[in-house]
Amino acid sequence: MPLKNLYARLPSVDRLLNHPLLEKVLDRHGNAALAAAVRQTLDEARQHIRSNNSLPRWAEDEHQLASLASQRVSTRQQVRIRPVFNLSGTVLHTNLGRAPMAEAAVEAVSRAMREAVTLEYDLDGAGRGHRDSAISELLQELTGAEAACVVNNNAAAVLILLSTVAAGREVVVSRGELVEIGGAFRMPDVMRQAGCKLVEVGATNRTHLRDYRQAINAETGLLMKVHTSNYHIEGFTHSVSEAELAELAHQHGLPAATDLGSGALIDLSAYGLPAEPMPQQMIAQGVDLVSFSGDKLLGGPQAGLIIGKKSWIDKIQQHPLKRALRCDKMTLAALEATLRLYLQPDRLVRQLPTLRRLVRAQPDMQQQALRLLPLLSHFAGNNFDTAEQACLSQIGSGSLPVDRLPGWAITFSPRDGRGSTLEALANRLRSLPAPVIGRLYDGKLWLDLRCLEDESAFLANLRQADPAGNPG
Ligand SMILES: *Cc1c(COP(=O)(O)O)cnc(C)c1O
Repeated sequence: MPLKNLYARLPSVDRLLNHPLLEKVLDRHGNAALAAAVRQTLDEARQHIRSNNSLPRWAEDEHQLASLASQRVSTRQQVRIRPVFNLSGTVLHTNLGRAPMAEAAVEAVSRAMREAVTLEYDLDGAGRGHRDSAISELLQELTGAEAACVVNNNAAAVLILLSTVAAGREVVVSRGELVEIGGAFRMPDVMRQAGCKLVEVGATNRTHLRDYRQAINAETGLLMKVHTSNYHIEGFTHSVSEAELAELAHQHGLPAATDLGSGALIDLSAYGLPAEPMPQQMIAQGVDLVSFSGDKLLGGPQAGLIIGKKSWIDKIQQHPLKRALRCDKMTLAALEATLRLYLQPDRLVRQLPTLRRLVRAQPDMQQQALRLLPLLSHFAGNNFDTAEQACLSQIGSGSLPVDRLPGWAITFSPRDGRGSTLEALANRLRSLPAPVIGRLYDGKLWLDLRCLEDESAFLANLRQADPAGNPG
């Protein structure tokens, strides 16, 4: 058939727009979005005709074309950043947005989003109208530091710290601490970006105070420690404590800084968790500047916190990079609300979701597994052996991968032993209205229950996929 006749078999944009199937779509999404989708659908049909010299099967009747246009509009309108059930076994999962926020933080952010706020506005005229003042005062109280500064994340904190304190000068760091975090953040690269000259001292496994001392010269601007959060050197090792390093720095009229990575404002070992260095300890040991993340163990929004000597913090606040790296009102509102929870440490474990999930007791998760097993077994169907069993969760986000938390999981083993069968189940779970993210390991799919708090929402979500699904 001549091409011209094939094109003529396609309806016009107007005709397709008025198809009864698209009436509701028009109501919901408006004329502009629908018309664009109709045009794109017809364009695709024309392209097919041009390349194949035939009318595509899906363009043969108008009902089908209308239905394709309708799908196109809804796909385009679908929100891409949406809630999931994180059953991956990693509590602070960077790809899943790290720390879930406390209710108090959620409320503070919604209020700040809707209305004007006192971001840099001083109600009592006491001259504290700086955007970091509220956070700074809280951090002073919680850590004993003289002042604090808040930026976009901890990578930004390290960058502005180095740029302010030691641009054009030498920064002395132990060879054993030149960390890479999640690929894009490498200490040597950040140093270069900040205009500092990195001076590596010691050996990978052992660095002594004398190594730092011998590296100090007229060009030295800073002695620095970096917490080796995501790896651990064992065996014949030695490193210099922050207290020793700060003392050496001060003897030479230099500042000392430490990048703690996660940092924990409470003693995690008191909760039976792996100990993590605390910013307040570093301040007490005389370190001039300490940086850490807002959305790692602190359990707040993405942010980088720098605490320390007021004279240095004031300089950081005045650095031109601060304007580029500063936080917006939503982040600051969430961070303030989160830090306020730390003023009531005895309630923290209930109010801070990150901590609450990290400390969940194994029997509690096992009980939950037993409750969920029938429905999940039904969901998976006959091709799988579904079981509940002990597992090990990870803290995540640069915490030590070797520190594991005993938990409980539901596991699925494919009866045909095939990876593709397992992949298909993982896909079905990810395709639920609220995607369920598990972990493939050891030939099984694991749903680690540590982060499953809203059990009824989880059940309702599963039932939506499988209306017949009825446990027991
Ligand atoms: C995680 C981490 C960073 C980066 O922190 P972000 O908040 O992710 O930017 C920097 N240094 C160390 C030691 C870390 O563990």
